[in-house]
Amino acid sequence: LLLAYDPARRLAKLQVQMERAVVNARMIYALLDTQPMQRDKPGARDLSVTDAEIAFDDVTFSYGNGQPVVRGISFVAEGGKTTALVGPSGAGKSTIINLIPRFYDPSGGRILIDGQDISDVTKASLRHHIAYVSQQPYLFEGTIRDNIRYGRPDATDAEVEEAAKLAYAHDFILAQPSGYETPVGENGVTLSGGQRQRLSIARALVRNAPILLLDEATSALDNESEAAVQKALETAMSGRTVVVIAHRLSTVVNADKIVVMHEGRLVEEGSHETLAQRKDGLYARLNNLQLPEPTS
Ligand code: ATP
Repeated sequence: LLLAYDPARRLAKLQVQMERAVVNARMIYALLDTQPMQRDKPGARDLSVTDAEIAFDDVTFSYGNGQPVVRGISFVAEGGKTTALVGPSGAGKSTIINLIPRFYDPSGGRILIDGQDISDVTKASLRHHIAYVSQQPYLFEGTIRDNIRYGRPDATDAEVEEAAKLAYAHDFILAQPSGYETPVGENGVTLSGGQRQRLSIARALVRNAPILLLDEATSALDNESEAAVQKALETAMSGRTVVVIAHRLSTVVNADKIVVMHEGRLVEEGSHETLAQRKDGLYARLNNLQLPEPTS
């Protein structure tokens, strides 16, 4: 009995672990669509987006009771433009990104979108206007089509395929055994890093949100994938308000605005040309030391 029981128990445990893994991954990639845990303020209105301009106004934040990791940050991410966050590890870049969809709320200051304090609007309407592409694209159990549609569950097949085309994913999808119906995830086909990234970009594109939050991948892909991912990202970024944690020099150089962070503070802000000239500035130093182009 013991022998029979043990593997079954182990299997059950494994099942629980796998489910948890899926839930976590879905939370990361689709947190934007999960039902917000905290209630909206009484009388909260839906966010109304015109330019999709994001303004941080003296924002401070600490995780729990810890030290503030974002300290009095103010900057504007202009509508339709790209703002790149740069700075050493631990500077607070991911935290800034997390505050925009209200995964956390500031402990001081305000974040405004088109003049509306995001703490006054419904979370569902806020997140509806935001798409997110993370460093490590996760694919969950299901078909390629399901994985893209996750960006917007009511997207039609045609819209899913259009997004895949824009993300330079359509051709490799058609080359899979069952095209868009090919299963991916643990029991499905194995896709390359670049292909997974393009699916994740397609997922953001099908959402068609005016705000794109992007955590740029640090790991280099092979040249061909790199070029395809880059083109897909350019498509996704075009015409949107983008806030990107930038790791590639080209992204930083091409950004409309660079926000340099250090230990939770904004230390410099401006275009690449302006910041690179300040030889004693943190940006000029980072630019030399920490932002090499991927070599492969
Ligand atoms: P990296 O480039 O390494 O991702 P970052 O600039 O994005 O760094 P954050 O991830 O925003 O920096 O982290 C800022 C600080 O907040 C760090 O000291 C980090 O340890 C801390 N921190 C981040 N997430 C949490 C969390 N969930 N709970 C507690 N502390 C956290």
